[in-house]
Amino acid sequence: MQFALVTGQRTLPIKGGKGTCPICSAELIAKCGPRVIHHWAHNRQRNCDPWWENETEWHRKWKELFPEDCREINHEASSGEIHRADVKTRSGIVIEIQHSTMTDEERLSRELFYGNLVWVLDGSTFQQNFFILHSLPDPNWHLSDDLIWFPANKDGEGSRHGMCYRRSENEPGASMVLVCGDNRLVKEAIGTSIGHRQFCWVRPRKAWLESKCPVYIDFGQDYIWKLMLYGEQKLPCIYPVSKEKFVHDAMVEQEANAIATRFYKINP
Ligand SMILES: [Zn+2]
Repeated sequence: MQFALVTGQRTLPIKGGKGTCPICSAELIAKCGPRVIHHWAHNRQRNCDPWWENETEWHRKWKELFPEDCREINHEASSGEIHRADVKTRSGIVIEIQHSTMTDEERLSRELFYGNLVWVLDGSTFQQNFFILHSLPDPNWHLSDDLIWFPANKDGEGSRHGMCYRRSENEPGASMVLVCGDNRLVKEAIGTSIGHRQFCWVRPRKAWLESKCPVYIDFGQDYIWKLMLYGEQKLPCIYPVSKEKFVHDAMVEQEANAIATRFYKINP
């Protein structure tokens, strides 16, 4: 943890420091060794919040993108259950910064507990299994609703570069479809892209594909990828959002779902 209560004040770890836990009031001691991320730890017992994971450098960097008063915020349900959110913005959005895998049940219990929640995943742990493939057209392009894309496979020579059929050229519900052979059209369609891409996730972490709350994946770039469903065909896709915009929107939007849906001039 980055904050303990010291004489009632949220305080960063200082060498030799002692404080109390904002959730269970037990004693915390500061760990400020040369080879650890400076943090507070429970002195005698395990961390009182079973949802808390050990912090990595990656966690800490993410939290530090937000103002101090938004980090490690207790959230209490009407049942009296308390957990410590990694980030809770002033507008009420909870951001869980997640390095480890979790089961569907764990994911769901946190989504129900926090409600207005967005996940940011550490993609470095599964990057070698995650393939970012061809661009998809701007969903608002006039022909986008007519093109139905085949799910892309990293080993499928056609699908990995973009293969589709036209709704207007095929009977609804037909068992076979006529693949769109107009390469110029496919090229033009892909050329309208505003960022949506197909992906192929080998051995996917299924819990995230079924999440009810927005999920973003961080592969260590200046932008993160939002997991989305594309168009009427609801094709799984990803969409890039700059970290700067994500943080900005999380601070001003009221709902986690509204992040990255509206234009804001960020740097006046
Ligand atoms: Zn505690």
